[in-house]
Amino acid sequence: MDNIKDYTLPALTEWMAQRGEPAFRARQVFQWLYQRRVTGFEQMSNVARPLRRRLGESFSLGGMARQDVRHSRDGSVKYALRLDDGQCIEAVLMPNNTHYTLCISTQVGCAMGCDFCMTARMGLVRNLSAGEIVQQVVEAYGGVEEGGLIRNLVFMGMGEPLHNYDNLVRALTILTEDHGFGFSWRRLTVSTSGLVPAIRRFAADRLPANLAISLNAVSDETRARLMPVNRRWNIAALLDACREIPKEPRVRITFEYVLLKGITDSLADARKLVKLLHGIKCKVNLIPFNPWPGSTYEGPSLEHARAFQEELLHRGLLTTLRISKGQDIQAACGQLITASPAARWRKVAG
Ligand code: SAH
Ligand code: SF4
Repeated sequence: MDNIKDYTLPALTEWMAQRGEPAFRARQVFQWLYQRRVTGFEQMSNVARPLRRRLGESFSLGGMARQDVRHSRDGSVKYALRLDDGQCIEAVLMPNNTHYTLCISTQVGCAMGCDFCMTARMGLVRNLSAGEIVQQVVEAYGGVEEGGLIRNLVFMGMGEPLHNYDNLVRALTILTEDHGFGFSWRRLTVSTSGLVPAIRRFAADRLPANLAISLNAVSDETRARLMPVNRRWNIAALLDACREIPKEPRVRITFEYVLLKGITDSLADARKLVKLLHGIKCKVNLIPFNPWPGSTYEGPSLEHARAFQEELLHRGLLTTLRISKGQDIQAACGQLITASPAARWRKVAG
């Protein structure tokens, strides 16, 4: 049975047309799915009963079981969501003063093998469908206060978004549909470890979402050690692709930079970073390493992270330092991992 949340509005309109239904029916259904977030087709009260029945026979609603919901002291909430095949993914909801930011996953696991990242340890289990990407937003709304709004979406959960390109783009199309969630493209940020051809494709497709590039190191030697992707596309190739992204509609590229004590965090590295990024309209987001069980890296002290930031700011590079959210519930960057059903079973049995 098809998941209705895999359908873009034009695709659903086409489905309706084939059954003699007018286009506005598809818009109504979109509103029920994403604005009212119904859990059954029978709740779509302004849709005629026979059509509701037909929808119910043709489609699933793509709901996910909440396997685990954890609340952090800082207000962020981590959802472990169970997919139809028993796999699990994670999404993290973070409140700001006026709205929420949601971090979502695009794959179960990840194939990229970055050495500092916990998700890498799972390997790639599978891609998420567009509907599974979108459903994380529906599920996270359960944790939003009455009247609250998820305004920003960051594709920084499990997985490499550009490794699941078609489903990602379809999900972006659904998420920005006015009759659905109506996210502004400018409030969506896709983070990539640096798949150069996919970055070029993203630019050529003129998708106006923000791009964040996980640069994480200033020399090829260090970056290749941390991120195997650098052996295929090195820093120069990556930055060339970034330079070639048309200035409009994308405003600034974000470069993420994980601070690993003694490896990427020297002040000389900071100065080299400024040189590397010269001429690219960008900002830098520094992420002090978030440790996970079994990790061998360390993060810098807050004082040192600030000094690194200052080094960049002084030279005119717009730089933010991410004070990690949800560390107490393993919801921070690179701490997302879910045990396979078998491993969970062993834990229970064992
Ligand atoms: N796969 C994509 C998006 C998910 S990772 C990517 O790599 O960009 C999101 C960010 O978390 C990346 O910038 C990554 O470098 C960073 N990250 C991964 N593990 C981390 C850890 N243990 N501590 C801090 N940042 C980490
Ligand atoms: Fe995958 Fe991103 Fe983790 Fe690298 S940092 S293994 S690309 S999720």
